[in-house]
Amino acid sequence: MQLGDPSDSDVVKAGRAGLSRRGVLKVGALGVGSLLLGVGGGLGAGVPAVGRRVATRGVRNVIFVIADGMSAGTLGLSEHYSRVVLGKQTNWLRLASEAGARRCVVTTHSYDSVVTDSAAASSAWSIGVKCRNGSLSVAPDGSTPAPILMRAKQGGRAVGCVTTTTITHATPAGFYCNVSDRADQKDVGVQLVERDVDIALGGGRVYVPDAAEGAGVQRVQTRQELKAWADSEHAGRAKRVIGTFNDGHISMSLERRDDEPSLVEMARAAIEHLGTLADGFFLQIEGGRVDHAGHSNDVCGILTEQLELDTVLGLAAEYALSRDDTLLIAATDHGTGGPSATFYGRHGVECIKKLSGASKSFEWVMQKFGALPGTLTPEQQGGELAKLLKQATGIDIGSDGRKVLARKLAGEQVDPSIRRNELTSVMGSIVGNGFGVQWVSPDHTGEPVEMLVLGAGSETVRAGMDNTELTAWIAGLMDLPPGKPLQ
Ligand SMILES: [Zn+2]
Repeated sequence: MQLGDPSDSDVVKAGRAGLSRRGVLKVGALGVGSLLLGVGGGLGAGVPAVGRRVATRGVRNVIFVIADGMSAGTLGLSEHYSRVVLGKQTNWLRLASEAGARRCVVTTHSYDSVVTDSAAASSAWSIGVKCRNGSLSVAPDGSTPAPILMRAKQGGRAVGCVTTTTITHATPAGFYCNVSDRADQKDVGVQLVERDVDIALGGGRVYVPDAAEGAGVQRVQTRQELKAWADSEHAGRAKRVIGTFNDGHISMSLERRDDEPSLVEMARAAIEHLGTLADGFFLQIEGGRVDHAGHSNDVCGILTEQLELDTVLGLAAEYALSRDDTLLIAATDHGTGGPSATFYGRHGVECIKKLSGASKSFEWVMQKFGALPGTLTPEQQGGELAKLLKQATGIDIGSDGRKVLARKLAGEQVDPSIRRNELTSVMGSIVGNGFGVQWVSPDHTGEPVEMLVLGAGSETVRAGMDNTELTAWIAGLMDLPPGKPLQ
């Protein structure tokens, strides 16, 4: 298969063929669902077509919660840890068993790749078109349809984005901007200000123009300022607020600074604010660093980021299910890393319990490791890295683990899988021996992914969909206009 052919896309052609056999695929998707989570049977049977309006009640608000790069095994890991250590289910699995909840398996290939990136995936949701990896709501033909938040705005809704990455990063950006290269975060920042997003909270201080304040936007820069703004009288607030709490991404939750808000605090502020504006709202909330921990094969990091996102899902569900006009979507854009618990029996349970000893992410480990003197031999480096890993994860990797690290640091290929020879992947494999969790790769993975839907309009979702089909489905439920292109 040729990828990246500019005249057409073999990846998309395969997708079209799949969609034309929808009846067959739907049965297949249900089978997979039953295997993965023990849920299934009856989903999607006899539901209305995608995009058909609900006759009995309209959807006023949409809350679209995204665990970026949530492999099925990441959801599974958070569920195991919640049950074994915290003594409760995750919100994701608890809500999946609620009456009226619907579950969908979503295909995610992009225009030019079987494995999507977050930019093409966000664009697929936002404009309903398969885009090239790296493009933010710019179609392969160069056209720039209105992103879904802008359509919501044109339809009279208030709109917002909340994330732990930079607010100009791919997943939030695809929902409000049209920029052909996701790396141009300053261009994204300009569009964020120009395009009248009511609330935007995340990292990325350096990408949002200083002029934003003069354009009727209130800027907040710390957790304390966000709290003061949230506690202030609604009438006295600037109508629009952009909060950027770090120059880059917001710190991983294991290392978060006191002046950085949690995803839960940001999500609560956004839901409360948007609820006071306009005639309904569309809010995207992203746990963006689930993906980053996945790239690092960092089990402690991915678990804590996923659990934070799961708390936000509980908060969003509390809002959505207390009303009859709010659609709640919990989704992921693709898998990352593909971690999974892999030890049987009592030993496996004991290994999952050890995760409660995690105190730092691999990001912290790599920062400390990078500060070591450059004169150390590979053996000495391996020894220092082992100490940092013990401090961060609680796992003693032993002399065998130190030897593998030393070989890797000497430039040797230590894993037959070429991609799993990233230093953090080798660290993840070794530490994973202690936690009973292993990884597929340091990259995104191409499997169909989870989506959970609750609240108003949820009965119209199908059991199997392509990510591009969400645009028309949501726009139909919210009765959004087609959207005028902006530039
Ligand atoms: Zn990623």
